[in-house]
Amino acid sequence: MRMTCREVIAGLADYVDAALDMLTRARVATHLWMCAECRAYLATYERTITLVRSGQRVDMPAAARHRVTRELLERLRRGS
Ligand SMILES: [Zn+2]
Repeated sequence: MRMTCREVIAGLADYVDAALDMLTRARVATHLWMCAECRAYLATYERTITLVRSGQRVDMPAAARHRVTRELLERLRRGS
């Protein structure tokens, strides 16, 4: 059962935080392996986190994290 890009992007924050259960995490990883688009989203997301953390020396606030996820979803919607 394959996940859609939308599902993967929606779960990306939890994936990065290792907050997904093992099965879901494996499904996301499999999707990322097959899908260059979602890999690009993941790279953007991780780069954003790195920027925020290096700038503020704190974890990305939940609000900012959700904003990034929303932006990714928005971009995905426009792209497809
Ligand atoms: Zn995808």
